[in-house]
Amino acid sequence: MQWEDTWGDGGEGSAERPAAPEPHRTSTTETGPFCNAVCSCGWRGPARRARGRARADAAAHTEG
Ligand SMILES: [Zn+2]
Repeated sequence: MQWEDTWGDGGEGSAERPAAPEPHRTSTTETGPFCNAVCSCGWRGPARRARGRARADAAAHTEG
């Protein structure tokens, strides 16, 4: 009977919610010679030398 406050406005994204898929908005950021994929959910990919690799990391993250 304590669960109903979990289903309020839904501001925080830490709870598992079956109906609303988390928006994963990925981008890449460059740090010196390396490129990282980053996501709006807080995920961050490994440093890559090629931006294409970082984007592949991001794609793999959003797909599953
Ligand atoms: Zn994400």
